[in-house]
Amino acid sequence: MSERQKRFFLTEKEIPTQWYNIQAEMPNKPIPAVNPQTKEPLKAEDLFPVFCEECSRQEFDQQNKWIDIPEEVREQYKCYRSTPLVRAYALERALDTPAHIYFKNESVSPVGSHKLNSALAQAYYCKQEGVTNMTTETGAGQWGTALSYAARVFGIEAAVYQVKVSYEQKPYRRSLMQTFGAQVTPSPSMSTRAGKDILTKEPNNQGSLGTAISEAIELARMTPGCKYVLGSVLSHVTLHQTVIGLEAEKQMQMAGEYPDVVIACFGGGSNFGGISFPFMRHNLSGEKHTRFIAAEPAACPKLTKGEFRLDYGDVAGYTPLLPMYTLGHDFMPANIHAGGLRYHGAGVIVSQLLKDSMMEAVDITQPDSFAAGVLFARTEGIVPAPESCHAIAATINEAKRCKETGEEKVILFNLSGHGLIDMTAYDSYLAGNLG
Ligand SMILES: *Cc1c(COP(=O)(O)O)cnc(C)c1O
Repeated sequence: MSERQKRFFLTEKEIPTQWYNIQAEMPNKPIPAVNPQTKEPLKAEDLFPVFCEECSRQEFDQQNKWIDIPEEVREQYKCYRSTPLVRAYALERALDTPAHIYFKNESVSPVGSHKLNSALAQAYYCKQEGVTNMTTETGAGQWGTALSYAARVFGIEAAVYQVKVSYEQKPYRRSLMQTFGAQVTPSPSMSTRAGKDILTKEPNNQGSLGTAISEAIELARMTPGCKYVLGSVLSHVTLHQTVIGLEAEKQMQMAGEYPDVVIACFGGGSNFGGISFPFMRHNLSGEKHTRFIAAEPAACPKLTKGEFRLDYGDVAGYTPLLPMYTLGHDFMPANIHAGGLRYHGAGVIVSQLLKDSMMEAVDITQPDSFAAGVLFARTEGIVPAPESCHAIAATINEAKRCKETGEEKVILFNLSGHGLIDMTAYDSYLAGNLG
């Protein structure tokens, strides 16, 4: 067997210096979000009371194709980037597929997921603007963990509302957040009006990202010097995540290949957009015809079964109305283990791209996702996050199709995180308790 390279890395110098803003190049821009009170299109200034100003401006930037990564953020990226691009030879062999499968391994970040790429940027901008406290919501706890660490790096206090079911199912994520120095509250809680309203109607409410977002926004509004930060869905978050795809593009070049298919799991769209958009820019210019597939859970299928319309981003209706694929802001998904994918809506950029057939979506059942995750662990030696298992399942489906047709397609998927703190989920699957 001739020597073949398995992992591809960039030097520190080659780490991207700019993020890619796909909004500047989309043929149809996202429809503007709407202020629910005035019914006027939303402007950056409307977000200033809740979000930091730079992130608010990035949210609506449809002019600048490239946005500089601040030097302080890039310095932090150097602690774990570039992340490896890996050729999954063993998985290919197990599937007996002619497809070439690559994955971008974001699980090597200090917090175990891609989320840190945006947490560091948001914490940096908050610090620049004199913010002393940040608040946010978290599902499975990856975003809360990333934010807790990023806040610590830039010397800001963090208060995290964690979806109650995850707080109970995943106690170690709470410990991680607390280790990084954050204050963690299970949501819905009695500490906010939004939380009290929910618990009064339904004392056993297990929470969702929507309930936790309502509580965090309320805290940000009520507390001077406190800003709200979000780990997914919004366009500036996805912007920060494009560092993934920009690196992957250079690393695929080192491997001498270009992806025919790019796949990522889908919660609100940040890791999907992060790996996809840099490649999609070559589709937009007509040079390439890559397929992009978002893999969502069958229990929360906003892209495959949702409706494209204006909807709130949270249960209480505190957010602007966003034009997106949604299952309705009061949709309560089943308590699947992929907590990071239990959100009712999709980001406005991805929603527009799906509407314009620039990308596709598939839904994956929970047992299929874990079967894929276990096969990946046994072949490539990495236990994937329950969220990432959805991307792996979709990748396996594509690779099996290649086996049927004999096509030697190049498939790239994003391994958004590892599952080492999600072993209770694997226990349930291995014990046959996931249906
Ligand atoms: C949060 C999270 C997701 C889902 O969020 P997106 O914004 O859709 O990327 C997926 N995988 C992991 C590991 C996560 O932590």
